[in-house]
Amino acid sequence: MAKIKLENKYKKSDTIKDLRSKYSNKQAVLNSLYELYNSERPWQPDDLAKKALDDLFDETSSAEPKNKFVLREHTVEEISRLEKSNFPRYLRYRYAYEVFPIDQIVNSYPPAIQIEPTSVCNYRCIFCYQTDPRLSKKSNGHMGNMKFELFKNLIDQIEGHVEAVTLASRGEPTLNKNLPKMLDYMGDKFLAAKINTNASLLNETLAHNILDSGLQTVVFSADAASEPLYSKLRVHGDFDKVFTNISKFCEIKEKYYPHSKLITRVSGVSVSEEQNLDEMEDLWGALLDQVVFVQYNPWENVYDSDFSDITQPCSDLWRRFFIWWDGKTAPCDVDYLTTLSTETVFEKTISEIWNGRSYEVLRNKHLSAQRQSVEPCRRCTVV
Ligand code: SF4
Repeated sequence: MAKIKLENKYKKSDTIKDLRSKYSNKQAVLNSLYELYNSERPWQPDDLAKKALDDLFDETSSAEPKNKFVLREHTVEEISRLEKSNFPRYLRYRYAYEVFPIDQIVNSYPPAIQIEPTSVCNYRCIFCYQTDPRLSKKSNGHMGNMKFELFKNLIDQIEGHVEAVTLASRGEPTLNKNLPKMLDYMGDKFLAAKINTNASLLNETLAHNILDSGLQTVVFSADAASEPLYSKLRVHGDFDKVFTNISKFCEIKEKYYPHSKLITRVSGVSVSEEQNLDEMEDLWGALLDQVVFVQYNPWENVYDSDFSDITQPCSDLWRRFFIWWDGKTAPCDVDYLTTLSTETVFEKTISEIWNGRSYEVLRNKHLSAQRQSVEPCRRCTVV
């Protein structure tokens, strides 16, 4: 299959290539935010929510355009589903997510955290690290499920400090039988909680678990609107089964959760010239709120990729933090074999690792144009 031509940089702040959405009403969201901006609220001088509002509405602000907070289309949809009283909390998170990587600011906690309930996957998508047996062969020790006790401990650590928590990384989260318990424990502790799933195991019980949870977004990963393309990309996948599962999920949502604020999205990786977003929109857009193509990054094997000539720092070092099923941590999922970090959440807290010496060394190498001395960063195109 002809893969699409890659850009030489993968801009992590802006990976959505195309988004078709039914609901975003940007003007209404802007009006509500403008009301907040003009309110008599006594802001603390360093309140990130106030900084975000100033960037959006204060035309006399001296911030450089490249350092300014921006509202992205999917962010607008997220804000539109929140209670107004939660806007400041959300804006604080989102300002840190957008602007800290540009200004290279490190706070006590990362703006966004990904927790993988499992590293195991039942698919072998052509663009995914699961195709690398160094990761997916059981005897290499990378495969397993997170224990509920560890999950609980992580949630306890980040509650009140982090808003964006994604349940997913290297594996298919629904393969962990404790997922319903995990969703239940997360409750409504976070304003931007999300799960990514290939929907192959999405049954009625799990649909209720997800719809009953405090998740803000469910992302169904699918890259095509029909066979044979679907299973050429999502190897071991069965399009009809996934379509039936997602349709059933939507029926349950409509029947039992008519007031649900959950954002439903289908997201495909734009990897092949054969994919077509119009076809995706025709099929999935009838069921779900958003149809998205994200840019392809060669996740399937960074370690043997050619060197890149990028010297710019990687934004993920100031934006995201990954926790694997076994308590290991990583700055990104590009490094899926966990070569950049030796820290685990059994020895240190999340905040200690994020602010610790190893991270500082790595960030400093990126800041001083020594990215080329770091494996696998010197082969990676994320900026
Ligand atoms: S491998 Fe290095 S440059 Fe690439 S995403 Fe990870 S930390 Fe960033």
